[in-house]
Amino acid sequence: MVCHTILCMARQEYHDRIRNRTFTGQHDAGHVLRWLNVERTKTGAAIRPSQTEESRKRVIEVITRVRDIQERIKLSPVGFRAPCGGLPDVPAEFKHLNRMLERYRSRPQFFVHPGRREGWDVDDAPVLKTCPSGEWLAVDGVLRLMKENRLNKLQTCACGKWYFAKFSHQRFCSPGCRVRFWEDSDERKEQKRKKAREYYEFHKVHKRR
Ligand SMILES: [Zn+2]
Repeated sequence: MVCHTILCMARQEYHDRIRNRTFTGQHDAGHVLRWLNVERTKTGAAIRPSQTEESRKRVIEVITRVRDIQERIKLSPVGFRAPCGGLPDVPAEFKHLNRMLERYRSRPQFFVHPGRREGWDVDDAPVLKTCPSGEWLAVDGVLRLMKENRLNKLQTCACGKWYFAKFSHQRFCSPGCRVRFWEDSDERKEQKRKKAREYYEFHKVHKRR
């Protein structure tokens, strides 16, 4: 009984650690998710009026284009190297993406940071003439995730929400969506049927012995 109690406590602590753990890239992804998953009033209007559909579409297009480029590099890693050691031509995809990114201008800025021992920090800050600050932060988050090679952690759930995949096998934004979409899916039903068949066959063979 004592042993059982200790085991339960250990498991609970493990879950708490996972829940509270911050994963690499999660902070940058937070800016993207805040912009793509629009908080709405009861009437359906966006709580932040600057969070328009056009703005979200621009951020999603940056994600899509960066992913396309990453995919192309993966398929052809030598594709962007110059044949004679000089600079390679800039591919059309890069030019198009760079044109899109012109909207997200920034400048270095010092700011007060009570969490740091020095009390201040310096980082890029948006030049807010061309887009809302939330959109700038979202695109900045996308680019930081890309540099960390973690853009694949941004996923869309069957409910339409964007989420940060903490684990490679995570397919839904929440336990609620996992139950709602995965447990009811044909794929899951087939998986359960297969497991039941295997269980039945296993016991049939062992009964014969
Ligand atoms: Zn979901």
